[in-house]
Amino acid sequence: MSSRTILITGGAGFIGSNFIPFFLDEHQEISVVNLDKLTYAGNLNHLIEVENNKRYKFIKGDICDASLVRSIFSENRITDVIHFAAESHVDNSIAGPEAFIQTNVNGTFTLLEAARKSWLDEGNGAKTGFETSRFHHISTDEVYGSLGESGFFDENTPYAPNSPYSASKASSDFLVRSYYHTYGLNVVTSNCSNNYGPKQHDEKLIPTIIRKALAGEEIPIYGDGKNVRDWLYVQDHCSGINDVFTNGRAGETYVIGGNNEYNNISIAQKICGILDDILPKKNGSFTNQIAFVKDRLGHDFRYAIDATKIKTELGWKPQSDFDSGLRDTVMWYINKYQKV
Ligand code: NAD
Repeated sequence: MSSRTILITGGAGFIGSNFIPFFLDEHQEISVVNLDKLTYAGNLNHLIEVENNKRYKFIKGDICDASLVRSIFSENRITDVIHFAAESHVDNSIAGPEAFIQTNVNGTFTLLEAARKSWLDEGNGAKTGFETSRFHHISTDEVYGSLGESGFFDENTPYAPNSPYSASKASSDFLVRSYYHTYGLNVVTSNCSNNYGPKQHDEKLIPTIIRKALAGEEIPIYGDGKNVRDWLYVQDHCSGINDVFTNGRAGETYVIGGNNEYNNISIAQKICGILDDILPKKNGSFTNQIAFVKDRLGHDFRYAIDATKIKTELGWKPQSDFDSGLRDTVMWYINKYQKV
């Protein structure tokens, strides 16, 4: 990749802070500007490994701030965007949807407008120096709604978002799509399944299970624990994003998933099993702490991905198997929570 400056939004979040060190390492020619508002979900400690890298710069700010975004584009001569920034927690979107519409919809629109004005001329042709400029939108499989016991989501699955979170992500996907069809902006979108791994916020399922287990508290599992998710190790998502950004076809969507379907109760049991093995308790198993709690409103039953397109077109495949990825993840959080 020739010398380029990539604007990464939301780089202090879970996936972004795993992606940036990997991406800088993978492409020695590129520079990264990380624009992050540092909401409760952002954590700069997760980027310590790159903070002295000359090809990395952090800017604290809001993707909805159009004048800030425009000035970042011009002052840094931004050639590409990889857009992670979002409000991302479904439960929070049920309690307070407004921030989701603001950041996920208006924020994406603001970035698209800045990219269009910076990279395209009046006739929507590329300005000199921006011929290969690309806008990569990071999205979720939740836009496809909920599956029954069988079937998979793929790139042709009709959108059917069920939560304010997934509806806001679906809206942003459509805006991105429209900039390709209307203006010819070079966009790609990837829709990924549930990620797990280091650096995820405490509020999410896997960190919550580990944290509550270690604290000797009840491990809360929604409803009957039968809701199924398709889990992907975050580093495998990062390599998929890199493949789509680098080699994906303009205007295309790629779904990414690990083919690791587990329901929530079996995730909790697996984690408890790992903890029983690493930190055995004197008085029984960690599984005794599992407690079923009132279900999430509108809780989607099952998500599962058919990732044939990214595998066959771009040669991507996940490197981590679920059991070893989960064990590494548990080790990372033990280290984190036992330091506190
Ligand atoms: P996260 O909540 O951990 O991080 C989001 C980051 O965005 C935070 O650093 C936050 O400070 C920043 N941010 C929020 N609002 C902002 C704003 N207005 N301006 C600038 N920065 C802002 O999220 P994540 O889990 O890392 O997810 C990243 C992206 O990947 C999201 O778009 C999400 O929809 C998508 N995704 C996540 C998963 C998953 O399992 N975590 C799966 C598929 C897709």
